[in-house]
Amino acid sequence: MLELLFLLLPIAAAYGWYMGKRSTRINQQRSSESLSKNYFEGLNFLLSDQPDKAVDRFIELLQVDSETFDTHLSLGNLFRKRGEVDRSIRIHQNLIARPSLSLAQKDMAMMELAKDYLAAGLFDRAEEILLQLVKDPDHSDEAEKQLLSVYQATKEWWKAIHLVKRFKRARRKQLAPQVAHFYCQLAQESKSEKEQQDFWLQALKQDECCGRAYLAQFDLACEQRRFNDAITALGSIAQLAPEWFAETLPRAQQPFTETQRRDEYAELLQLVLEKQPSATVTLALAETMAPEQAEQMILAHLKRQPTMKGFHRLMQLHADAMASESSRDSLMLLSDLVGKQIRLRPKYRCIQCGFPGHSLYWHCPSCKSWGQIQRIQGLDGD
Ligand SMILES: [Zn+2]
Repeated sequence: MLELLFLLLPIAAAYGWYMGKRSTRINQQRSSESLSKNYFEGLNFLLSDQPDKAVDRFIELLQVDSETFDTHLSLGNLFRKRGEVDRSIRIHQNLIARPSLSLAQKDMAMMELAKDYLAAGLFDRAEEILLQLVKDPDHSDEAEKQLLSVYQATKEWWKAIHLVKRFKRARRKQLAPQVAHFYCQLAQESKSEKEQQDFWLQALKQDECCGRAYLAQFDLACEQRRFNDAITALGSIAQLAPEWFAETLPRAQQPFTETQRRDEYAELLQLVLEKQPSATVTLALAETMAPEQAEQMILAHLKRQPTMKGFHRLMQLHADAMASESSRDSLMLLSDLVGKQIRLRPKYRCIQCGFPGHSLYWHCPSCKSWGQIQRIQGLDGD
């Protein structure tokens, strides 16, 4: 009898092993069923416009299986993009609270939470998280970029400048034109002229082609009637940032007139035109000439680069030269119409995002890039 029982032992062991396997399979199946049930319910809430309940379900789901990390991250980002920042904050905060996350996953979730805070205007919270992230020697470029966005949003230019100083050499070089704008912002906010001058010099040290700093130097020099300094600033713009020269017109003529250096003014305009074709500069040069010569030059310009502005000025010149009063009136009427059309059209456009405007912004209100809003080129523009 005892031998028989011994013979049955392997069968009992095999049965035990089988039952154990079966129960694990049933557990897995149950867990998977509950997972899909929660997912299904969550999706249902999302589709039936009950996003709060959907968020609750998805958070519940995370407690069951932390492998759904990517799905939660994407869902949070989706809510943020839809402007529902409170929901994306809840999702990302819950992700961070999971002890099972790897270090890399936790950093990713923290980055997304910082972006949520940034989108919600909670800059101090975003800064706190991002400062923590950039402390890590292997931090991502994204963490640097977002922290810089925080300082730009809060207009903390010194913090932004010091942050960039800590970046790697290549990144510092890439951001130099932007840092030049941070110095120009400091100059704009300063009441002391001495400080302003220092900030513009710092800006030019970062980016010797910073048209904004030269334009500001030119403006202050004109205001203080330091006309030779104003001419020096104009020379720098012509040489290093000719795309901004049109912004100095028509005021650019005054320093040359005041210092009896009229010929140099026309020479400077010629130099700018060689570097940067512009209807505004062409018309300013035409102003320095006799009417017939001016007409010839505008015609030549129109053949090379047709612009409404050039056409408008040519019509005015023709009207002035007309003997018949009725023809002159008709042409003046047409010229006024073209003039109105020119004034209605936006003068500037961001070359990054296409944001149009009638005034010059150094910081694009739409895409937040620096120095990318320029005069529109082509038929309607410059
Ligand atoms: Zn833009």
